[in-house]
Amino acid sequence: MTHNQPAHTPITRLRAKKRPAVRYAIRLLALFCVLLAAAQAWSAWSSRQSRLAENAAATSNMAGALAAQAESTIRIVDTVLAGVVERVEHDGMAPVSADRLRAHIHTMVKEVKELHGLFVYGADGSWLVSSNPLQIAGNNADREYFQYHLNNPGRGLHVGTPVRSRSTGVWVLPVSRRLQHPDGSFAGVALGTIRIDFFADLYDSFDVGKDGAILLGLDDGTVVYRRPFNEKLIGSSIAGGPIFQRYKTYGPVGTATARSSIDGVVRLYSYRKVDQLPMLVSTAQSKREILAEWRQSTLLMSAATLLVVILLGMVGARLVRQIMIRDELEDALVIAKEHLQARNQELTVLVTKDGLTGIGNRRHFEDILRLELNRARRTGAPLSLVLVDVDFFKKYNDRYGHVSGDDCLRQVAGALRNSLARPSDLVARYGGEEFAVLLPATGQVGARYVAERLRLAVMDLNIVHAESPFGIATTSAGACTYHAAPGEDGSPESFVRQTDALLYRAKANGRNRVCSDLDSTGEAQAPSLAM
Ligand code: GH3
Ligand code: MG
Ligand code: MG
Repeated sequence: MTHNQPAHTPITRLRAKKRPAVRYAIRLLALFCVLLAAAQAWSAWSSRQSRLAENAAATSNMAGALAAQAESTIRIVDTVLAGVVERVEHDGMAPVSADRLRAHIHTMVKEVKELHGLFVYGADGSWLVSSNPLQIAGNNADREYFQYHLNNPGRGLHVGTPVRSRSTGVWVLPVSRRLQHPDGSFAGVALGTIRIDFFADLYDSFDVGKDGAILLGLDDGTVVYRRPFNEKLIGSSIAGGPIFQRYKTYGPVGTATARSSIDGVVRLYSYRKVDQLPMLVSTAQSKREILAEWRQSTLLMSAATLLVVILLGMVGARLVRQIMIRDELEDALVIAKEHLQARNQELTVLVTKDGLTGIGNRRHFEDILRLELNRARRTGAPLSLVLVDVDFFKKYNDRYGHVSGDDCLRQVAGALRNSLARPSDLVARYGGEEFAVLLPATGQVGARYVAERLRLAVMDLNIVHAESPFGIATTSAGACTYHAAPGEDGSPESFVRQTDALLYRAKANGRNRVCSDLDSTGEAQAPSLAM
C-alpha cells in the first residue's frame, strides 16, 4: 500500500496552519490580562498620589491657619507688653505709679483671654509688679528670658522657652520685652505669659485623625506644645527631628513624609514658620490613616481585576482546548478521508482489473471502448479492435488441468500486453480464453500488423500443447477497424460483433491466424510476418 506515505503531507500542513492560531490566541489573551493588570496598577498608583496630594494641601492649609493664629496671639500679648514697658519707663516705679501699674496689669489679664500673667522684674530679677494676686516675693534672674534681655540691648519682643510658672505652677510660654533706663542701661524685664493650654484647646479641636500630630515650637527646635500631648516634651528639643532638619534645609514652608523621631509613626507633614516670629507650626497626618480608605478600595479593585483575569484565563483555556480538539478532529477527518480515497482507488482497480491475469477486465474494456468510439467519432481518427482467442483451449484444460490452464492464460495475457507499443493501447480479458485489444488511432493495416505480432508473441511462449495440431499453444484473431462515416452504426456492440465474426472466420479457416477486414475477400490471410 502506498497511501500511508502521502497521507502525512496534508496533515502536517494543516497542523502548521492551525497551531499559530492557538499561539496567537494565547498571546492576545495574556497581553489583555497584562494590560488590565497594568491599568489597575496605574489607576491605584495615581489615586494614591492624588490622595496624598489632597492631604498635603489640607495639612498645609491647616499649618498656615495655625501659624497665623499663633502670630496674632503673640502680637496681642506683645501689644499689652509694649503698653506696660511704656508706663514703667515713663512713670517710673514710685509707689503711686506702681499701684496704677498693678491695677492696669490686673485689668489686662482679666480682659485679654490669651494672657495668663503679666510681670515686671527689676534689674536684679526681683518681682516688682505681678498679676498674681498672692504677690509671692521671688526672683526670676535665673530664667532664660531674663538672661536674654540682660545680655541683649535689643528692644524687640522675645519669645522664650516654655517654663512652669513659679506663681501658678502651670506650663506657660513667656513673651518678654527689655526695660531700660533713659541712659540705655538694663532696668529689668516686662513679661507676659500665655498658658500652653490656650494652644492645646485650639489644636485639639482640629481633626488630624487618630495618629495625627500638631506641633508648635520655637524655630530652634524647642517644643512649645505637641498633640498628642506629653508633658515631658514641653521645653525639650527636637531640632534633630525630620521637620526641623527640613526647615533648616528648605526654608519656611514645606511638606515632607517622614518617620517621627518622637513616636516612630510615619506621617505626612506640613510645616510653616510663623511670620516674623521665631516659631514654627507643623501639622501631620499618619500616612497609614491617609491611605486606609485608598488601601481598602485598591484591595477590592485588585481582587476584582484578579477575578476578571482568572475568568479570562479560564475562558481562554477552554477556547484553546476547543480549538485544539477541533484541530485534532480535522486531522482525524483528513486521515479518514485519505484512507477512504485510497480504498476507493483500490476498489476502482479491483473493479477494472481481471483477477487471474492482472490486465483489464471486460467491464473496463467496455468502458474504454465506449470512450474511444466517441473520441474516434469526434476526431475522425480510426479505431481498431483485435479479438484474440486461444485455440483448442478446452483440450488444453482437459490435458493439463485447470491450474495449468490458468497459468497458460496468465502467460498469454503477459505476452499480449508486452507486445503493445503505445500507452493508449489496451489489452483486456474479454472472457474465458478470449482477449480484446483496443488500438486507438490505428488503421486497418496497422491493426492487421499488430494482430499478427500478438499471434507470434503467444507462439513465442512455446507452451507445449500436445492436443493441438500445432504442438504449442496458438491463438486466432479477428482485427477490425472503425472509421467514423455517415451511415456507420458505430455502436460498441456492432463493432465487437463484426470483430467477433472475423475471429470466427479465422477459426473456421484453420486457426492460428489473423482474419482482418482489410481482406476484401473476407478470407483469412496467411501470416504476413515472419515466424
Ligand atoms: P477453439 O479452438 O474453437 O477456440 O476451441 P476451444 O476449446 O478453445 O473453445 P471452447 O469455447 O470450446 O472452450 C473454451 C474453454 O476455455 C472452456 C473452458 O474449459 C476454458 N476456460 C474458459 N475460462 C477458463 C479459465 O479461466 N481457466 C481455465 N483454465 N480454463 C478456462
Ligand atoms: Mg473461446
Ligand atoms: Mg478457444
